[in-house]
Amino acid sequence: MQIEQQRKDNKEQQEYIGHIKRNILLNPGPATTTDTVKMAQVVPDICPREKEFASMMKGMREDLVRIVHGDLEKHTSVLFCGSGTINIDICLNSLLPEGKKILVINNGAYSSRAAEICEYYQLPFIDLRFPADELPDLAAVENILKENPDIALVHTTHNETGTGILNPVREIGALAHKYGAVFTVDTTSTYAMRPIRIEEDNIDFCMASAQKGLMAMTGLSFIVGSREIIEKSAEYPKRSYYCNLYLQYHFFETTGEMHFTPPVQTIYAARQAIDEYFAEGEEAKWQRHLSVFEAIHHGLDKLGFHDIIKREWQAGLVVAVKYPDDANWDFEKVHDYCYERGFTIYPGKIASQSTFRLCALGAITAKDIEDFFRVFEEALRHFDVKIPVRYEEKRQPWANLTSAGNGPS
Ligand SMILES: *Cc1c(COP(=O)(O)O)cnc(C)c1O
Repeated sequence: MQIEQQRKDNKEQQEYIGHIKRNILLNPGPATTTDTVKMAQVVPDICPREKEFASMMKGMREDLVRIVHGDLEKHTSVLFCGSGTINIDICLNSLLPEGKKILVINNGAYSSRAAEICEYYQLPFIDLRFPADELPDLAAVENILKENPDIALVHTTHNETGTGILNPVREIGALAHKYGAVFTVDTTSTYAMRPIRIEEDNIDFCMASAQKGLMAMTGLSFIVGSREIIEKSAEYPKRSYYCNLYLQYHFFETTGEMHFTPPVQTIYAARQAIDEYFAEGEEAKWQRHLSVFEAIHHGLDKLGFHDIIKREWQAGLVVAVKYPDDANWDFEKVHDYCYERGFTIYPGKIASQSTFRLCALGAITAKDIEDFFRVFEEALRHFDVKIPVRYEEKRQPWANLTSAGNGPS
């Protein structure tokens, strides 16, 4: 009787999998997931204080270090329940010694978010700004470090997800270390996509959340970095209770558990996603994302769209596209047309220009992008937007450079 019931349940689950509609998300995360990751959330109820759950998290914490080629003796990962922004909050508020200063190297929306976090905690900081479509000037960074020996923490964003520009973290990290500062990098939109080698890249702490490169679910975030620095930070001022790095690390190390209730089902999905990450392989996965990125550029070029970041500076994961100068162009309408057909495009995040974004994250392939462009072109024709699209300004001279996302790491 029981077996019969179980067979029936399994059959229903199989049928259910067949019925999950596959949407192609071209927004910068949450990303399109595999059905096996979706279904990994459906598990028997379990109290997360059980040893079985703690042992799963232990393996997962090690795998998260392995993804950035960390050394398990020197590096650790600390899990938190929250979206990706919680990592920036935690790193900045937890890793600053008394009487010291933070330097934020800021050429985009996510580094601006870090600067805002400093403001909210009233942490002394320098917001070193550069234009959103330019790389940071390393000589200016070095000058600031030279003039301010009290800078103890340098923070920047690897791939500024608003524009898709890739920052030279290895070079910035070398400067931070030359002047004795800890280097934290927001790698939320590169981790588990563009290969990262934490030591060679001069990174002390990187971070991400499960819904981006890992192609899992929202609600689990993690910081990967130096055990020694975390242990040192035990003596730093405690500025938050829920968001303190040392406290959570210490709890994990002594009990194997998260201090407070973990997002149980989200963690099962992340476990499955990490298995799928290693099965696909670091290089193969990166090549797949690059082929999606190339397909996005190919489709945009054919329709005459202009992107805003010099191709050779793009991280290979996000394309920020200028709105065409056409009275019939209406992002909302084009979005809705595509959305109804299973494709999600995303608004931009640059104050000075109207842009939208197409991203290469998630469990998608170049073929999905070809399907998308058929629908997108249909939408443009439907709303009478001229093809090729028109701009009043001429295209920048750099725009014809071949893409690749092979700029500085
Ligand atoms: C997505 C993202 C975050 C986190 O955003 P949440 O909405 O909090 O998940 C942080 N930094 C970067 C660079 C991102 O792309």
